[in-house]
Amino acid sequence: MLAENNIVIIGGGFAGTTLAQALEKLLPTTHRLILVSDESYTTFNPMLAEVVGASVFPEHVIVPIRQMLRRTQFIMGTVQDVNYAQGKLSCTTLAGLREIPFDHLVFAFGTRANLDLVPGMAEHALPLKLVGDALFIRNRVLRQLARMELESDPVLRRRLGHFIVVGGGFSGVEVAGELADYLCSIRRFYPRVQREELAVTLLHDTGQLLSELPASLGMAAARHMAARGIRLRLGTRALRFEADTVVLADGEMIEGATVVCTVGTRPNPLVATLERNLALATRRGRIETNPDMSVRGMPGLWAIGDCARVANAATDEDSLPTAQFAVAQARQLAHNLAGHLEQRESKPFSYQSKGAMASIGHMKGVAQVYGFSFSGLPAWLAWRALYLMRMPTLGRKLRLWAEWTLSMFFPTDITHLRFTRTSEADESPPDGLPPHRPQAPGASATRIATHDFSGIPRTPYATPAAPTLTGDQHA
Ligand SMILES: Cc1cc2nc3c(=O)[nH]c(=O)nc-3n(C[C@H](O)[C@H](O)[C@H](O)COP(=O)(O)OP(=O)(O)OC[C@H]3O[C@@H](n4cnc5c(N)ncnc54)[C@H](O)[C@@H]3O)c2cc1C
Repeated sequence: MLAENNIVIIGGGFAGTTLAQALEKLLPTTHRLILVSDESYTTFNPMLAEVVGASVFPEHVIVPIRQMLRRTQFIMGTVQDVNYAQGKLSCTTLAGLREIPFDHLVFAFGTRANLDLVPGMAEHALPLKLVGDALFIRNRVLRQLARMELESDPVLRRRLGHFIVVGGGFSGVEVAGELADYLCSIRRFYPRVQREELAVTLLHDTGQLLSELPASLGMAAARHMAARGIRLRLGTRALRFEADTVVLADGEMIEGATVVCTVGTRPNPLVATLERNLALATRRGRIETNPDMSVRGMPGLWAIGDCARVANAATDEDSLPTAQFAVAQARQLAHNLAGHLEQRESKPFSYQSKGAMASIGHMKGVAQVYGFSFSGLPAWLAWRALYLMRMPTLGRKLRLWAEWTLSMFFPTDITHLRFTRTSEADESPPDGLPPHRPQAPGASATRIATHDFSGIPRTPYATPAAPTLTGDQHA
């Protein structure tokens, strides 16, 4: 055994935590394992759409890293740079800048959402990448409905009630389905909001949803979503985003006060630092690796997950940037690293995808598992069973199961959570929300006339012909 004792992993996502757990089992305790990540938890991204639709609480889709690991030392810190020659990295921590020595260093720091993909996206669209994004979108939905209760201009009300999702991949389809379910189940708490005033539109630039799945499943998803009242705009590209408007490539303008963007990633900023300081080879922002996931030309460095470009020997193609591949790479890298330390030969990454599935709303899903395609309720149940199984730690699994079960009997949560501290209670919050303190006497205000309330018709406003969201409470 060589004296290469310090194994440091950067990133506490799917790849980093799976690797640490696998190494804990494979390596003797003489090896020191350290995981550095800038958040104290790992986010179960495939369930972020469920947070948007309040099917689960945000805490249910995140797992504290310290509870996932047994003997790996966890350091909450943001890695700033790597000094390869001296075998150490620098990171900012709660205790200031720290240096951590390594013998082996694994890059597993993922990617970021790309808000520069389409002009105006950063200013006017909401990304869905972090749990904070999901909670923000959920709050925005509740806020739009609360505002609709107070507005009387039908055009403005329609704009507020229109939610546009950009991207018809897994996250886009799941978010659109969740939003439709959420709006249907919470509308009864907003009695002045008419069903016809609410709409969800899904924009996708190709002709088929879920292009990673067989065409028949993409079509099944589209059929179900259209029947549910979701407006599908396939083969439609967004040209730019403006305030409350998406301008399409053909010049058409779609008005909607909330735009959720599920497309586009960009490299983690650390990649640029490593390119500059280590002359690390990358392609399209992903770190180039050898077939065994070691970094090209730099012994002791390894890369896995979304930040790495890893060839898959089973298909002769690049690995997909998905959780499934991140986990498979982490498991194999653990064996490769253990083998390397025992001076055995490492193996090229090889993985046969087991399939994919998506929840499409109203207790329906589409799935392809081991080449077998199915849709509807069975696919939705399989989706839930899989994610329950995959959710790390028994505690989180039980909480998730309890939450899903309880939500069948109780109304969906409509808490618009504001993290206001006592010291901030008198300040005007950003984003146009009302302050907690009473306004100064004489402050100008738009008067809400009694007829504004009573005048809001019980029958729908005259509306442009468009499908409306159908269905009532969902599970
Ligand atoms: C909304 C959404 C839905 C998805 N749905 C699915 C799905 O259904 N199925 C599927 O297979 N995949 C899905 N994915 C993709 C999947 O989440 C990713 O492929 C997977 O998370 C990649 O794992 P990773 O460990 O490489 O990166 P991440 O999970 O992104 O983890 C990276 C970690 O590195 C940390 N980090 C970043 N920079 C630093 C730094 N400088 N210093 C220290 N730590 C740092 C981050 O905090 C994070 O913990 C989805 C993704 C999103 C956003």
